[in-house]
Amino acid sequence: MKLVINALTKTYPNGVKALNGIDLTIPKGMFGLLGPNGAGKSTLMRTIATLQDADSGSIFLDETDVLANKQAIREKLGYLPQDFGLYPRISAEVMLDHIAEMKGVREKKDRKYLVESLLTKVNLYQHRKKALGTYSGGMRQRFGIAQALAGNPSLIIVDEPTAGLDPSERNRFYNLLSELGENTIVILSTHIVEDISTLCSHMAIICQGELLMEGKPQDGIHELKDRIYEKSIQKDELPQYKDGYRVISTKLIAGRLSMRVESEIPLENGFAPAKPELEDVYFSHISRMVDPVTI
Ligand code: ADP
Ligand code: MG
Repeated sequence: MKLVINALTKTYPNGVKALNGIDLTIPKGMFGLLGPNGAGKSTLMRTIATLQDADSGSIFLDETDVLANKQAIREKLGYLPQDFGLYPRISAEVMLDHIAEMKGVREKKDRKYLVESLLTKVNLYQHRKKALGTYSGGMRQRFGIAQALAGNPSLIIVDEPTAGLDPSERNRFYNLLSELGENTIVILSTHIVEDISTLCSHMAIICQGELLMEGKPQDGIHELKDRIYEKSIQKDELPQYKDGYRVISTKLIAGRLSMRVESEIPLENGFAPAKPELEDVYFSHISRMVDPVTI
């Protein structure tokens, strides 16, 4: 199974070009869509989820033309939107039962079994009677996954699922997602590099509607071999370094700036070679479109 996206373009009525000729092949397993806010991630995901139309281009899930066969895709799809609204007074159990009914599970006892197994899977069974409005951020996202899984989907789309989760909630959520990938396509969007390095076998980087990189995280890292250097500088020295070097990221450490620079030629003068990381891949690519270093 694979999802093949070709020349997908979308311009909103206000003139914003959210997708600019996106070509992407998404294999089975966990696929990470990485990009800064406004990159076009949600637009792409809503388009794949058949919730909004593109201006041009195509999406195929194997032989099925997604944009021409919306209903066929919806039956295979589990979707967790970025802004996932919940009915605050309804319990998880009642809500899931309702969702399962909408997804076509007619028999009450089948739904009861399905709801119990979903709630167990996302570790919310003991909280099933609680009103959704009382759930923490992590519980809410896990409930979101439960509802996305309700129709036994083979294509799962989760839009920025880890935004706003604390570190332990995020870990629990990673564990849950990493169990899904086997026989499904899971597309996860995020602006958090760690989400990708923890979960995804394949990835893409998009920025301002353009595809900047597609492949395995490890391949992206390998491309930067012997090209990343690190140097600690004073904050006010940064502008002069930005003039002379490709500064891709900076971190403030105890009042000094630790700066990372990409260079094809070996650097001296206090620069130390650094082991490339996925974060360098991200900043290296988006620095072609936006200045990644603004402090
Ligand atoms: P991301 O999910 O990566 O943050 P989005 O797909 O939400 O990106 O947005 C991409 C661009 O399109 C942004 O510039 C955003 O402001 C714009 N945009 C998104 N939705 C709409 C809309 N309904 N109308 C107009 N502009 C939009
Ligand atoms: Mg978004």
